[in-house]
Amino acid sequence: MKILTIYAHPADTITNCGGTLARHAAAGDEVVALILTHGGRIHANRYAEEWRKDAPDEAVAGADLDEIVAHKKGELDRAAEIVGIRNLITLDLDDTMAVMREEVVDEVAAVIARERPEIVICDYPQNPVMTANTHTVATMTALAALGRAATHLKNLDGRAETNVRQVFFTSVPVAVTDGLSLYGVRNDLFVDITPVVGTKLAAMDCFESQGYAGLFARKLIESSNGEFGRAAGVNFAEAYSRLYNETHDLLPLTEAALRADPLTRHVEYSRIDVRASFPPP
Ligand SMILES: [Zn+2]
Repeated sequence: MKILTIYAHPADTITNCGGTLARHAAAGDEVVALILTHGGRIHANRYAEEWRKDAPDEAVAGADLDEIVAHKKGELDRAAEIVGIRNLITLDLDDTMAVMREEVVDEVAAVIARERPEIVICDYPQNPVMTANTHTVATMTALAALGRAATHLKNLDGRAETNVRQVFFTSVPVAVTDGLSLYGVRNDLFVDITPVVGTKLAAMDCFESQGYAGLFARKLIESSNGEFGRAAGVNFAEAYSRLYNETHDLLPLTEAALRADPLTRHVEYSRIDVRASFPPP
């Protein structure tokens, strides 16, 4: 099976679904990551910290966009390797990207048509629209590209259609534990990343220039993946909502549902202390 992730910024793939990808890669699935922007302007922590020093290192403080982007790409390459992303495709668009563009939809559709993934993972299209509009644009571009790749006709385009079987959205900012709370707006599927939480941490530690390494990574995983884990009944989880309806032959019950024991949930939930088990480098 092949999974294609489509995200706006270099670190988005790892923070949103890095644990899930690590588990799929370990299970032998092929993981391809498509990243639309170079992320040269967002999270400029490394450079801002240097400017603010009394005697800044000019090589860092005076870095131009090419240097910043190259540095970020190095971090992304190392993180992708740790997680098991086999193919990393970066379009290097400017990260001020604020609107959908036909030519970008075409580019993304071409990647989908070439890679032919069964699964696509991307951000929920209405995740923080005000503060992170580029995420919304990236997902709207991905959805338009999925539509475009699905209408390729062999006689007109020289290649047949690509039908992606499911799209999983990340970043729905709610973790309710049932289908009634909040009128049903929720993540409705969780992947237990407890077995690979150390892998996700190591990958996040790569994004040092944007302040994601060390304690920040541990805090984020404890709070965000910990909260999703609470909703999922495990120590750490990544959360998804599905684009397409799911059809089964029989009513489904997952292995996790069969294993679940409400009386020992607190033990399962607190099994790993990430700061003690994976101290910051
Ligand atoms: Zn982002």
